[in-house]
Amino acid sequence: MKKKIADQLYMQSYIFRYIPFYALLKIILVVVTSLLDIFLFTYSFKFAIDAVEAGKGFFEILPFFAVAGALSILTVFLRKWVDCQYFPICRERLAQKMKMHLMEKASAVDLACYDQPEYYDTLIMANQNADTNALNIFHTHVELLGQVVSISGFVTILLSLDALGVVFAVVSLVMGLFTNAVFNRLQLKCELELAPLYRKRDYTGRIFFLPDYAKELRMSRIKLPLTAYFKTSIREIVDTNQKYDMRFLALRLLNFFTTVFLTDAVYMAILVYRIVVRKTLSVGDFTALYLCMDKLSYWLPNLMETLTNVQKHSLHTELFQKFENYQNTVKDEGQVMPDTEAAEIEINNLSFRYPGTDHSVLKDIDLHIRSGEKIAIVGYNGSGKSTLVKLLMRFYDPDRGEIKMQGRNIREYRLTPYRKQIGAVFQDYCTYACSVAENVSMDTKPDEEQVWHALKKSGLAERIGRTEHGTASQLGRELYEDGLILSGGEAHKIALSRAFYHDCRFVILDEPSAALDPISEYSFYESVRENFRNATVIFISHRLSSTRGADRIYMMSNGEIIEQGTHDELMKQNGAYAASFRLQAEKYVTE
Ligand code: ADP
Repeated sequence: MKKKIADQLYMQSYIFRYIPFYALLKIILVVVTSLLDIFLFTYSFKFAIDAVEAGKGFFEILPFFAVAGALSILTVFLRKWVDCQYFPICRERLAQKMKMHLMEKASAVDLACYDQPEYYDTLIMANQNADTNALNIFHTHVELLGQVVSISGFVTILLSLDALGVVFAVVSLVMGLFTNAVFNRLQLKCELELAPLYRKRDYTGRIFFLPDYAKELRMSRIKLPLTAYFKTSIREIVDTNQKYDMRFLALRLLNFFTTVFLTDAVYMAILVYRIVVRKTLSVGDFTALYLCMDKLSYWLPNLMETLTNVQKHSLHTELFQKFENYQNTVKDEGQVMPDTEAAEIEINNLSFRYPGTDHSVLKDIDLHIRSGEKIAIVGYNGSGKSTLVKLLMRFYDPDRGEIKMQGRNIREYRLTPYRKQIGAVFQDYCTYACSVAENVSMDTKPDEEQVWHALKKSGLAERIGRTEHGTASQLGRELYEDGLILSGGEAHKIALSRAFYHDCRFVILDEPSAALDPISEYSFYESVRENFRNATVIFISHRLSSTRGADRIYMMSNGEIIEQGTHDELMKQNGAYAASFRLQAEKYVTE
């Protein structure tokens, strides 16, 4: 509980840090409103009745009400202004600051985080709404403050007039807290049971609206099993809800009879008995007690609800804290800046398995790439090629062995400059809804001339030259109606241009020609040879036709290097590489 409160206060600290004036105004207004509420709706009646009974004149009590009324009107105006005018501005300011803070953090966490469904599903999702959650928590706490002030005020009036009323209020509060706690625990259990069912329902429901699935949905009967899953999930949701319905009803009734009924009916009956039969209460006291209890029976359930909401917020704050406190396993502790020479890479005795798995994906890899060499790593799907690249980029650190660049373990280099000096094009590259120039430079303020050079080298200059806005053309239609739509191969060339744009001395190309037609593929490799003459280049491919020109080829299978040499040496060796090459060559000849 202590941790939950600490988590919530931490989350709230963002409100005080980014929109402090709004926070302060909200707190002052809620306290003033609650105090006025206590005075105007209970004490004022007793005050007026007592004054009349004591024979005081109208003008004697008028200033009292005039001040309270004026204050009340002023707070109403202020509250409206804060909610309608000031809040929307503050909300956006907070969203911007928090989102930027989280984007910064998200872009720096270990890549390994994305391998864990728990991280991806829960932490990322929870943090997407962190700003709204922080605001919700703050508003709930402010509401709680208002309720505590109001309830304390009413209880104080009760105490001064009738101690029995306090007993009723306390019993009602305790029973309310108890039934609510049981209700919440049951509700959480129900929600946990429902969560996977909602996920199933939402997944199947969502598929029908996403562009990625549009073609296959129209060309196949996949919608039949999907609709069946959808229907089953709805049925299961209804069944689960029904399982809990009776218990929820019983708890609600128990809550009603031990709270509202107790204060509104039983205590009121006692008050009526005292004033009418026993005549032990004055009209002023009766009115104040009646109104006090009436207000309490309104505020106490409200307080329960707010406390429930406070509990619910704990889930978000816990996830948020987890995200905030996440410590990368790939540590940025090196101090050395990489030099600008073509990289010499040495891999010794390297083994690796992905976190949470028990199977080694790379086993005892030894590899030596001399400065300026063009190396091809080939092998079947799943043999570990991309994993090796991820380790080279320090997205993961190896379990055993080491990777050295220029004779130093790559952990000794400062992480960001180390990664920056690698020109990498991934198999699953992305293009962004930004300009062509930004997509090539992957930066703001791109160097126009360099962008054109890079586009020329990747074979896309002519295509972009034909567009109205050239390198300023926006990619995709997500943000711009007249955005440029590129084919798969053309988009791939954008990704390849990135490697040419930065004059890197260490280049890694993962399946660089997968989406290219044979002519583009040929000119691409020519371009790589021509433009990266002074760089160390590793390219990964399962298209063996593209590896012939490499200085050395490493053949991987099942996480190990099983053959290495030039194309001719490997063909002479007549092993797995030669067999694969012939198979692919045959296909080309017969197709
Ligand atoms: P390749 O690039 O040669 O096709 P990968 O390096 O992508 O192969 O994958 C090697 C093995 O590692 C495969 O069996 C794959 O299933 C597994 N693998 C890849 N990524 C992950 C991951 N993030 N978590 C767990 N296993 C993974």
